Amino acid sequence: MKAARIREYHKPLVMEDVAIPDIKADEVLVKVAACGMCRSDVLLVDGFFQNYTDIPPPIIPGHEITGTIKKIGSLVPKAAGIEEGDHVVVSPGWGDGVCRHCQVGNTHICPNVRWPGFGTYGGFAEYIPVPARYVIKVAKQLKFEELAPLTDAGLTPYRGIKKIRDAGGLGPDRIIGVFGVGGLGTYAVQYAKLLGAGATVVAFARNPDKLAVARKYGADHIIAVKGKSAADVGKELKTATGQDKLDAIIDCVGAPEMVQLGFSLLGISGHYADVGFVGDRIDVPLFPRVSGEQTFHGSFWGNNADLSEVMALATEGKIQHTIKTIGFEQINEYLELLRGNNVVGRAVVKF
Ligand SMILES: [Zn+2]
Repeated sequence: MKAARIREYHKPLVMEDVAIPDIKADEVLVKVAACGMCRSDVLLVDGFFQNYTDIPPPIIPGHEITGTIKKIGSLVPKAAGIEEGDHVVVSPGWGDGVCRHCQVGNTHICPNVRWPGFGTYGGFAEYIPVPARYVIKVAKQLKFEELAPLTDAGLTPYRGIKKIRDAGGLGPDRIIGVFGVGGLGTYAVQYAKLLGAGATVVAFARNPDKLAVARKYGADHIIAVKGKSAADVGKELKTATGQDKLDAIIDCVGAPEMVQLGFSLLGISGHYADVGFVGDRIDVPLFPRVSGEQTFHGSFWGNNADLSEVMALATEGKIQHTIKTIGFEQINEYLELLRGNNVVGRAVVKF
């Protein structure tokens, strides 16, 4: 099969032919139809995750995976309801199934988690073996290039906003800020409207083209932040909404300057859900967090239940996409564009 692999960190991927993987008895073989390209793929190539865990090459990146079932392992129960030819999305966090996090369904934060696209097999290849419990069957009328990004870009902000909602941070008298309108943010804006219980949605980004997408997807207000102080941004927020503080933030970037801006705009009893980790560090004053009783939520990717909910919304046609479909041979070119933050919406490799 064709595969794009990391042979050495910090180098372009190597396009090569490798053997089609065997499957274990509890796995299925998925023929990849489309795979989204994520900023995390760039972080992976650039060695970011080596700070936290050793992932030895060769690695096939690509974790936003959708395709068709090609083969089913002998121990996969009939009750799984999977047949050859079914269309599926691949749920990203493969837990050990026995720890307390797995037991409550949060397999993606299992201490023994495996992630597709961060090891031997990933979506930048024609086939991938997947434990049967981590595929979700989807309706055949849905487009593969739209399904792929829903497994990360369209899943991660969904879980983050759910956390704010479940903590009571949304409602008709609240303002939620969406920080960053890249791959994740275009979905975050839509979920903020869908799950916000009437909250006003304000999108913040540096790039005006990306803000235009946020507006199209229902942001009530958009604010360009490039070159502006936190005080200036606060004034614009007040002009737009009548208040200069945010009640909730979904941060899809996690860059130091965005985090600092976000916390400086966060109001009393505010909730900050961060799903981005571009900067890897936060440095913010502590007293306003304590005196204003603010809450920080780390939110990571999503579990099977979250992904099933996203699939239900997609099936109902409630999610809009900004997608650039590319060919296998363009992967390195688009990794470079992603590295420079120059992709509007999501680039998706289609096989
Ligand atoms: Zn576990």
